[in-house]
Order: sequence, then C-alpha cells, then structure tokens
Amino acid sequence: MKKHNFYAGPSILSQYTIKNTADAILNFADTGLSILEVSHRSKEFQAVIDEASALVKELLEVPEGYHVLWLGGGASTQFAMVPMNLMKHKAAYLDTGVWAHKAIKEAKLFGEVDVVASSEAANYNYIPKDYVIPADADYFHYTTNNTIYGTELRQDPVSPVPLVADMSSDIFSRPVDVAKYDLIYAGAQKNLAPAGVTIVIVKEDALGKVDRVLPTMFNYLTHTSKGSMFNTPPVLPIFSAMQTLRYYKQLGGISAIEKIDIEKAGILYEAIDASKMFMGTAEVADRSIMNVCFVMAPEYKELEKDFIDFATSKGMVGIKGHRSVGGFRASLYNAMPVESVKALVECMKEFEAKH
Ligand SMILES: *Cc1c(COP(=O)(O)O)cnc(C)c1O
Repeated sequence: MKKHNFYAGPSILSQYTIKNTADAILNFADTGLSILEVSHRSKEFQAVIDEASALVKELLEVPEGYHVLWLGGGASTQFAMVPMNLMKHKAAYLDTGVWAHKAIKEAKLFGEVDVVASSEAANYNYIPKDYVIPADADYFHYTTNNTIYGTELRQDPVSPVPLVADMSSDIFSRPVDVAKYDLIYAGAQKNLAPAGVTIVIVKEDALGKVDRVLPTMFNYLTHTSKGSMFNTPPVLPIFSAMQTLRYYKQLGGISAIEKIDIEKAGILYEAIDASKMFMGTAEVADRSIMNVCFVMAPEYKELEKDFIDFATSKGMVGIKGHRSVGGFRASLYNAMPVESVKALVECMKEFEAKH
C-alpha cells in the first residue's frame, strides 16, 4: 500500500533526494566507492559541501558577509552555542513553545535573558504579538515555526536589534530577509535531509565579540575558518541536503515552494474548518503551513483512537499529535505531495460520514 508520511521529524524527503542518495551509497560520483566510506577531505566531497553551501546562499539570497556552516549536534546544541558566541550581557527571547523554552533555558546559563512574551499559559496555541524588544539586547531570538503546536511566524519580526532564529521546521518554506539576522539555524531533519546535520547561517561581523572562553568546537570561528571541516562533518546528511537543495532549485526556488506549501496547507485547514468532527488547535492567524494540529470536537473525543486506526489502515503514517497537544498533527513539509494531503482529507471525510 502507498504510505503517506506525515511524521514531524525526521520526516518526508523528496523522492529525488532519496533516489540520488541511494545511488551514491552504491557509487558516489563515479569514485567506485560509497558515500558512506569516502574521506570528507576528498575532492569529490569538497565539491558536495561547496555546492550545498552555494545553493543555500542562492535560494535564501544570503548577502555578502555571511557563512553557511554544516555542524553536528542538532538544533539543540545551537540553543547553547548561540548565547555562548553572541551574548555579551543580555538577550531577548520570545517564548512560543517547548523548543523556544529550551533555548531560553540554555541562554540563561550565559547572561541576562529578557523573555519579552510567552504564550505558555495558553499551551502555546498562538504567537504573542504585543511585546517590546529592549534596544540594549545583543539579539532577539525567536522560533519561526513551532513544530509541536502548529503555529508559525511567517514574517521577519521588526526589531531594534539583530535577529536570531531557530528555523528548524520551516526553513526553505518562505523567503527570509537574511540581512536582518545575525544567525539562523536549522536541524536538517524536518525540511532538508536525514538527521545528523544542522545548518547555521551566521554573519561574520557578529562573531568574536564576547569575552568568555569558548571551547574550540563551540566557537563558530573554528568552523567559519575551516569551512565546516575543522573535524569530520556529517558527510551523508550533507550529501542528501545538497540533493534536496538542487530539487528546490528545480521547483523554481523558495517563492514557488511557498506558494505550493500554502495551497497544500489550505486544503487541509479548509477540510478541518468545514468539518463538525475535527477542529484546529492553533489560533487561525498563527496557523503553520508546515505542521497542522487538530483534535476531535468534544462530542467525538472518544473516537480519536479509532480515527488513528482508520487512517493507518489507509496508509497514513505519523499523524498522532504530540503528547502535549494530543489529537493529530499532519506535517506537510516541502517534500509532501499534494496527493497525500488530499488522501488524508478523503480519509477524514470518509470517517466522519461513517460516524
Ligand atoms: C525538532 C526541532 C528542534 C530540535 O532539533 P534537534 O536537531 O533534535 O536538536 C529544535 N527546534 C525546532 C523548531 C524543532 O522543530
């Protein structure tokens, strides 16, 4: 049976990425070796990391003066690396979910953290709007897409200080004005590649300004000075990322992808809003086009498990909601075909008609 992959992360990758990765596992760039067994210092792999970095710059229109890094440790390591490298005295953070909260916790280890607003009391079902970012903060950190709650901030916030963003679950789904950012980071496993690599886009001028002692591996300058090759980078995920980025370029770039993503999410939200049985959990104005969170209306609540079973029998995978929200979550990352979204909608309609 055809499977429809709605996992939140690691998550669906394009067939283009999977096929070309599979080929390279057997024979990488006509070397007669597998990508799994080549030196990261080989000229063939150097070409991969160079192309991947160039594609990130091209697709996101990264201005001069920025580095693209490919690091290990996941987005969670960035929660600490960002304040270590960028916080002189104080930083401002927006608390929009568990990931933002974890970033705040790490930042507090390195200085004063001004949490400008939080939606925690409403179980993070919206993005706070009225807040003031202190002009004496070193940066303002926010999470563009809250993977667990299905809320998203699709515009670069207006800020008196440079922005820093965790874009783990929506990078490459909208154009970004990179010049407003000192740093952008994203774990690859939501919209780019298999788990194991984290993209960091960092402004050269923002580095080297703190007094604290930084361990070598936690200093961005170690990696900017060596082109992410100070130590062995995650070779296979970087190769897959390059394939995905090639695919994004073929699709017409980020604006074209954004249009498709908005249409895809629109199909599912429309079905949720038209249904008596299902209801969305995030405030409408803040709905994510990457992770669609919904539950059953109170009078149908006891059918949630039945619906999961029914959807599973129709080939839907990974639609169970995160434990902190409950219900369902359909992740519709860039690689998700519209056919899968339509199949889920069909499944919901069929189930609703039966009950
Ligand atoms: C998944 C996720 C993370 C955690 O990423 P790891 O690579 O597992 O550390 C952080 N932030 C956001 C927004 C996420 O979706």
